[in-house]
Amino acid sequence: MLLIDRSTFPKRKSCGEGLFPRGVAELADLGVLPALEGFSAPVSSLRFTMDGVSAEAPVGREVRGALGVQRSRLDEALMLRAGEAGVEVRLGVEARELRRIDGRFSIDVEGVTDARMIVAADGLRSGVRARRRR
Ligand SMILES: Cc1cc2nc3c(=O)[nH]c(=O)nc-3n(C[C@H](O)[C@H](O)[C@H](O)COP(=O)(O)OP(=O)(O)OC[C@H]3O[C@@H](n4cnc5c(N)ncnc54)[C@H](O)[C@@H]3O)c2cc1C
Repeated sequence: MLLIDRSTFPKRKSCGEGLFPRGVAELADLGVLPALEGFSAPVSSLRFTMDGVSAEAPVGREVRGALGVQRSRLDEALMLRAGEAGVEVRLGVEARELRRIDGRFSIDVEGVTDARMIVAADGLRSGVRARRRR
């Protein structure tokens, strides 16, 4: 398995540094939580404040609650776990070409041109998914 990202890490990113219970459960399934021990803290409620008005709601009624964790630590923990799971990680590498030939996708990333499955996890405004329609 090959994981590429055009960024290098650690990188700065706007983030509230909070993980909701569903995200925490996914990270638990992936085996990422042990690497966050000592760098995360349980979050029991959220409070939004604007123009002197605030609203508060509890989170984390599930078995595993919400967590506060530094984003750079989360990135580090994900990279660590990927390495442990035998994933080949290439950073600073951009996916540019995504083609569909005979119903099969092909991508051009540093000599790797074919894959059984391509997961485009390149953000909300995914350029890779947009190219899929061409
Ligand atoms: C101010 C702010 C605060 C936030 N706070 C929180 C919070 O507290 N908790 C929370 O859960 N969410 C928070 N979010 C939302 C959260 O940041 C996003 O939902 C999340 O980052 C989306 O993850 P993603 O993996 O889909 O995309 P991204 O985090 O954007 O990751 C996409 C990755 O793909 C890479 N990439 C893009 N194009 C290519 C390409 N062509 N080739 C190779 N690599 C590529 C990028 O370098 C990037 O690393 C916040 C967002 C903002 C704006």
